[in-house]
Amino acid sequence: MGAAAIAYAQEKPKLVRINDSIYMAPGSGNVYLVTTPAGNVVIDTAIESMAPESKALLAPVTHGPIKYIVLTHGHADHIGGIPLWREPGTQIVAQKNYVEFANYTTRLEGFFAPRNAAGFSRPLEEVGSWKGNFGATIDPTIFFDQTYEFTLGGLTFKLFSTPGETPDHLTVWIPQLKAAFIGDNYDGAGLPEPKSFPNLYTLRGTEPRWALDWIKSIDTVIALKPEIVLSGHGDPIFGNEEITRRLTRFRDAMQYVHDETVKGMNAGKDVYTLMQEIKLPARYDLTESFGKVSWSVRGIYDGYAGWFDTDAATMYSRPPSSVYPDLVKLAGGPDAVTQLALKKLEAGDPVSTLHLTNVVLSYDAKNSSALNARLKALNYLQDRCENYIESSWLNYGIRKAKEALGAQ
Ligand SMILES: [Zn+2]
Repeated sequence: MGAAAIAYAQEKPKLVRINDSIYMAPGSGNVYLVTTPAGNVVIDTAIESMAPESKALLAPVTHGPIKYIVLTHGHADHIGGIPLWREPGTQIVAQKNYVEFANYTTRLEGFFAPRNAAGFSRPLEEVGSWKGNFGATIDPTIFFDQTYEFTLGGLTFKLFSTPGETPDHLTVWIPQLKAAFIGDNYDGAGLPEPKSFPNLYTLRGTEPRWALDWIKSIDTVIALKPEIVLSGHGDPIFGNEEITRRLTRFRDAMQYVHDETVKGMNAGKDVYTLMQEIKLPARYDLTESFGKVSWSVRGIYDGYAGWFDTDAATMYSRPPSSVYPDLVKLAGGPDAVTQLALKKLEAGDPVSTLHLTNVVLSYDAKNSSALNARLKALNYLQDRCENYIESSWLNYGIRKAKEALGAQ
């Protein structure tokens, strides 16, 4: 990933005053404090490890009780500080899909833990015994379906269901301040401008993030005509013109990728063809530093259609790789295939190198020539990588290859 993005991520957070009522503790994710004469509203609480720092940043401006905690969604980087902020009598508000979303992530904890560690380049967290299908800790005390409203100290808080990055996403709207808190539905990475296309599918694994819901949610925010938009990551956006410009291009980019995928599906195209064909037009002015269009195309395709690709062989439980060892023998052994893998890399085709070394490794998992060729291809890709998540997974591949080499 780019040096600017890394530098940005490593900046030490400082308290940000948005206006007389709203303060922000930047972090992963951002924590917002809305102060009123009758007490405070906290919007999101950061990841557990960062929550004390966020709370300390906000301490000088926190006077009176914490009356409400509003959770824009149930991701770990937004709910980790709940125990730090909750007081006796604090109401915690979430959209009703929070419950199933929390159960889903808890249900699959053992599956997600190593993928989160790899995808975010962080240490593997210990997962205890399975908590069952409905074993999540549910902290919120108030749930709503489409809208919810409360007032505190003269400020009105209007909450809207705005599914997007997660099905439980909500937007908090304070009409008197023309401020919208939109969670991770825009700028989910917090990287500098120009912003990235979103992760309609993220590689750590996710149930479908429905593009049409997300688009409608962005429309809901635009229709409020906010003067301030506050995200779960990254900087505030000020001024309705700028907010509308950014949210519109983001929404239209999603609409474009969704519609092109659907058109291709209806035309009988397979998912790989569409992953290669669909490119984001320059007019949207978005990078692919966080979400990648090709991953999103596949996310949309598989979200709508599931796994079967109409090839009769796909109906059965034996994968294509089950015949790789036979192909290695037919080619005259692992060296011949590894040579071909290296030729592909020399020709600037590292992905073919990865595929071909997989073929060799299915025959001999510790083949050092193939593992070294694989490392070269992974490093080649890493040197040219501009996507934060792709970079993490390339590192994961590099670590695995080195481990296999070291294990000889
Ligand atoms: Zn987040």
